[in-house]
Amino acid sequence: MVISEDAIELRRMVADARRSRKLVGCVPTMGALHDGHISLVERARAECDFVIVTLFVNPTQFGPKEDLQKYPRPFEADCDKCRAAGVDFLFCPTADSMYPAGYSTFVEVQGLTDQWEGAVRPGHFRGVTTVVAKLLNLTQPDKAFFGQKDFQQQAVIRRMCRDLDMPTEIITCPTLRDSDGLAMSSRNVYLSPAERTSGLSLSRALLLARDKVRSGETDLRAIRLALRAEMEQTPGVSVDYATIADPDSLMELTEIAPRMVALVAARVGATRLIDNMLIP
Ligand code: AMP
Repeated sequence: MVISEDAIELRRMVADARRSRKLVGCVPTMGALHDGHISLVERARAECDFVIVTLFVNPTQFGPKEDLQKYPRPFEADCDKCRAAGVDFLFCPTADSMYPAGYSTFVEVQGLTDQWEGAVRPGHFRGVTTVVAKLLNLTQPDKAFFGQKDFQQQAVIRRMCRDLDMPTEIITCPTLRDSDGLAMSSRNVYLSPAERTSGLSLSRALLLARDKVRSGETDLRAIRLALRAEMEQTPGVSVDYATIADPDSLMELTEIAPRMVALVAARVGATRLIDNMLIP
């Protein structure tokens, strides 16, 4: 596995791979890799011949009061995990090389980013789409792999690629969870044992909503209230949003539809957790 911060070396190796008719896959990450990230790498490994993982804690997607400085950066452990997962190229650029002095270009998806994460974290998706556009330009992959865990993010990135005629196919992979149901996240390391227990209310609420739909409940407003209540009645949990939306437009639904996604976000102590579940 090549580990490099050098975009020229990356481009050279991708060009070599292409010349050998290899299918190129890319998994963008901010590091602090867990099994959820590795499941994306394994999917890329299964579908592509040359697998790139990008590791970059992107400053432009963090708000001024967010955890950019304290975001976990276990670089050696991340390298080991990528090597074990069969990554070909680990691209870990510096912030200065991604955003040199005078940097002034941003990519913004309108509409889809107005609600939910976009409303709670102003400017977040502008940072995400800008860095993903840059990473896709640098890596030129046939396929890029994202997690369903960040549901709105994958929807926004799909829209960006479609609108800007970017040739990369976006693959969304299922959310990996710990055995207790908590969605894996690099931010889970911030949780105390008590907060972790409270954090389980997110997946519990999603399952509750799904089960209500399955058992024939048709009052979506009642289901939404139950989704919120399950989290709100848990000590230490402060809900940012709890909704049931259309999986493509992310608009809140008022009636049961064939495809729905329940989206939740809450603060548990100082840590923000998000989760979602598709309700077919
Ligand atoms: P991050 O490092 O948080 O930017 O995440 C990098 C990629 O991993 C994103 O596409 C995430 O959606 C995905 N991801 C994060 N957590 C999980 C998880 N528990 N299961 C599957 N994918 C995940």
